[in-house]
Amino acid sequence: MALIVQKYGGTSVGSVERIQTVAKKIKAFKDSGNQLVVSVSAMSGETNRMAALARVIQDTPSLREMDVLLTTGEQVTISLLSMALQQLGCDAISYTGSQVRITTDSEHGKARIKSIDDHRIRDSLDEGKVVVVAGFQGTDEEGNITTLGRGGSDTTAVALAAALGADECQIYTDVEGVYTTDPRIEPNARKMNTVSYEEMLEMASLGSKVLQIRSVEFASKYKVPLRVLSSLVDNPVGTLITSEENIMEQALISGIAHNKDEAKLSLIGVPDEPGIAFKILKPISVANIEVDMIVQSVSAREGLTNFAFTVHRNDFVGASNILDHLRKELGAMAVQSDDKVVKVSLVGIGMRSHAGIAAKMFEVLHGENINIQMISTSEIKISVVIDEKYLELAVRSLHSAFELDKE
Ligand code: ADP
Ligand code: ASP
Ligand code: MG
Repeated sequence: MALIVQKYGGTSVGSVERIQTVAKKIKAFKDSGNQLVVSVSAMSGETNRMAALARVIQDTPSLREMDVLLTTGEQVTISLLSMALQQLGCDAISYTGSQVRITTDSEHGKARIKSIDDHRIRDSLDEGKVVVVAGFQGTDEEGNITTLGRGGSDTTAVALAAALGADECQIYTDVEGVYTTDPRIEPNARKMNTVSYEEMLEMASLGSKVLQIRSVEFASKYKVPLRVLSSLVDNPVGTLITSEENIMEQALISGIAHNKDEAKLSLIGVPDEPGIAFKILKPISVANIEVDMIVQSVSAREGLTNFAFTVHRNDFVGASNILDHLRKELGAMAVQSDDKVVKVSLVGIGMRSHAGIAAKMFEVLHGENINIQMISTSEIKISVVIDEKYLELAVRSLHSAFELDKE
């Protein structure tokens, strides 16, 4: 008898009919002799809807109250799914995050799971029940309700699978697996059969929101076999995310990720002297703003430098205000801010042993007359920041130039 953890995302439980369809699938798995723990998201659109309600009342509501609000979405779907299962004659029980003691730190809005007490889940499984657990939520040591960040139900599922030593963790979503790039941007994107944890982690952190980053971190750390597959088709195969050594053939480039959440800020004409990066980035970090790419370049004028970096678009206004202060304080010439940029990245373990990938990427973008504003590289990825209006063009031309549509 296998123990399987399944997660159904917002679209998969987006209506009562979809919930009933999911219940049928779960029952079939159970009837073929498996034990099942199922984690669900809120119905699609619900989390955004509630966040918008809060913002009618306050521009920046307290993160603690936001967590109390947003976690109600998952409480709706766990109860409805359990009812749908019971209606089919399949014994089921729902649990909130606190009922199964998903304990997190106290970082409201982006809490990290510290532990899960699996006793209650195991007892219910032993009683022959399907256990339905609310995704995205936990409680801190003081019992405050927390959330794991947007898309966090993926992480709930993988953490449950790790805690229970499940045979597989299956993430059911609205596409058939992990593709070479977002199929909504490039219709020729190809579904991959396998991806390594390392590449998936890179894709997720560079913006492929098919899996939340932390879910991949968990899966990699605890070696949870993770599968992404569609809840909208019959007998899906999906994509297996596994260790590198289990993957037979390694492509040079496995995928293209993009991130629309980027904003770029530059301080132009700052005195080029020791400590300048510190003086600029210290107040940014004190404001709890995460910096992604950083470029410091020599300016045309002697003794001056230009300092540019990217942040999440949510932090754009905050970071711009800080730079306006710094411009006066450091005697810089100007602040340039641009929140109409995106980051496009090539990811592949095969890059480790191949020179020339970056050059080819730049050549392709040049061929399309796309200006590269920033570049960053690591062993297995190359990222560029470009104007957002070129996003589709860049992704599609790179996808075809690197022949990602071909097996
Ligand atoms: P869920 O609500 O099920 O969690 P998400 O919207 O979070 O679903 O994730 C699925 C979406 O991820 C897809 O609809 C797709 O547009 C997007 N996506 C981005 N990059 C990729 C990729 N490389 N492969 C597959 N899907 C991707
Ligand atoms: N409902 C949450 C969100 O929309 C969590 C999730 O769907 O994974 O982000
Ligand atoms: Mg998701």
